[in-house]
Amino acid sequence: MSIINCQLSILTMFTEEQFYQTGKRGSVEVICGSMFSGKTEELIRRLKRAQFARQKVEIFKPAIDTRYNEEGVVSHDMNSIACTPVENSGNILLLSSDIDVVGIDEAQFFDNGLIQVCNKLANQGIRVIVAGLDMDFKGNPFGPIPGLCAIAENVTKVHAICMECGQLANYSHRLIKNDKLVLLGEKEEYQPLCRTCYNRHKFCS
Ligand SMILES: [Zn+2]
Repeated sequence: MSIINCQLSILTMFTEEQFYQTGKRGSVEVICGSMFSGKTEELIRRLKRAQFARQKVEIFKPAIDTRYNEEGVVSHDMNSIACTPVENSGNILLLSSDIDVVGIDEAQFFDNGLIQVCNKLANQGIRVIVAGLDMDFKGNPFGPIPGLCAIAENVTKVHAICMECGQLANYSHRLIKNDKLVLLGEKEEYQPLCRTCYNRHKFCS
């Protein structure tokens, strides 16, 4: 058996062993897009559906995001679901024992360790659903989101509507002059734009 075949075989055995031990299959799902694209609403929809099926759900967000309140993922339409703020991705592993579904909101603010954390949770048979911004206000890939898209079984890219032309928007344009990457904002600070309108602002203003 070649080294590659051997490695594949070990990987397959490991996955099957996990499956038969836990009786469930773990996976990673990513919901990503710009601001005002409905990422958190989609995360809450999937988590509430799991709760309805009596699955044990745990939700985490970075402690940095305290826009609405200390506890609870709160979506823009105030449709909320209780959650735990954590300081770093490692804390999610520690707090996820005996859980069926783990939800993570605002994942772009976590460290890159989140990628391995999600892999480990999924390997333990947990369904992991991650929501976050795929690009920062400069249009660059944001934190661990690109890596999470790479390891995920399923990636859903959601879109906002461009506030200038009405096409689908995937950029978060910052309206105020501030170069800080982490700026928690709402309607006064950001607007969703399509590529054409975003580039017009970026290069013509
Ligand atoms: Zn536009």
